[in-house]
Amino acid sequence: MLRKLLALLFLTTSLSQAQSSFVLIPDRVFDGMDVYTGWQVLVTGTQIRAVGPNLQPPAGAEVIVLKNQTLLPGLIEGHSHLFLHPYNETSWDDQVLRESPMERAARAVVHAEKTLLAGFTTVRDLGTEGADFDDVGLKQTIEKGIIPGPRMITVGRALIATGSYGPKGYNTRTNVPQGAEEADGQDRLIQAVRGQIGRGIDVVKIYADYRWGLMGEAKPTFLQEEIELMVKVAASSGRSVIAHASTEEGIRRAILGGCKTIEHGDVGTLELFRLMKSKGVAYCPTLAASDAISQYRGWKKGQDPEPERIVQKRKSFKAALESGVTIVMGGDVGVFTHGDNVREMELMQEYGMKPLDVLRSATSVPAQVFGQPKLGEVKTGKLADLIAVEGDPTQQINQLRKVKLVMKDGKLYKR
Ligand SMILES: [Zn+2]
Repeated sequence: MLRKLLALLFLTTSLSQAQSSFVLIPDRVFDGMDVYTGWQVLVTGTQIRAVGPNLQPPAGAEVIVLKNQTLLPGLIEGHSHLFLHPYNETSWDDQVLRESPMERAARAVVHAEKTLLAGFTTVRDLGTEGADFDDVGLKQTIEKGIIPGPRMITVGRALIATGSYGPKGYNTRTNVPQGAEEADGQDRLIQAVRGQIGRGIDVVKIYADYRWGLMGEAKPTFLQEEIELMVKVAASSGRSVIAHASTEEGIRRAILGGCKTIEHGDVGTLELFRLMKSKGVAYCPTLAASDAISQYRGWKKGQDPEPERIVQKRKSFKAALESGVTIVMGGDVGVFTHGDNVREMELMQEYGMKPLDVLRSATSVPAQVFGQPKLGEVKTGKLADLIAVEGDPTQQINQLRKVKLVMKDGKLYKR
């Protein structure tokens, strides 16, 4: 009896192993760095087992021919907000103050699936904006296999200097909940960073500047010493700090304070991008957020001349390219529709980046910057996060809109 059981067990394990082996045969492979033709990719279980020409597939492996398609690493979205939806549907204030926690969670579940099916198998989700640490919960729910979604790098509530963030403009006698956690000064900052780490975040996000100037313009928030302190506290736990920064002084303080990436960097100059490069700080441009918000404010793209904000964004992106700073793709998706993440990559190409570099900035480059050595490459031993798209995205980025296959952890979500 025992022998029979063991034999059965052996049979089912070998069967299930056979079922989870795939040989993918696309027209070409972008491996995270370069393009190859005539390559095949062998996946067994959750891993990429072999890559190259003339592979010997194990018996029972399922062969998937991807005719006229390009196989790539699963894309990495560097700046998402799964708990937000486009501001032209509901203003940010109303999402933070009026939507129930349940509605926000339900929306996030829908957004997670859309993101995955659009070929983005990993997201660095940069703040729930009033939805507490529910990103950590969402991540766990995805990892347990309860709902489909991308791998998540979470920041939870994010940190802001008191008085700098929003929602604001309400009766001063009411206490309006904020879109992130307020903390300042030595003791409170140490406690806040540790408190967030304790709730399961992966990275600490801070707002190094925000629109709290006299005229409502963006101005620096945390002092450089405060940023240095947060970086030091986070580093004790092996975590890094990343910064929202769009003003020159905010960017400078974030760089010198020791932040790992700068988000937005709207008025970044050649000098600042060079400083970033010399300090090993990466840049996440969020071109699509500026593009979307300008359109929500009435800009008719393609008809009206480009508003100042877009002209400036093109200029700073060009300076970033010239400086040679490491660029990670991130669009601030949530400001615009989830699943439309490619919009950022199209703008990167439109603003002067070569398609191959755009692809690197969404695969091997962020894998390295975000400390994810198992992701971002089609290489033996990496995790089997793979997508296939029609045509050749190394020539035209918008081919990424034609996703034909999505695999995460060796499991097919779309084919
Ligand atoms: Zn954002």
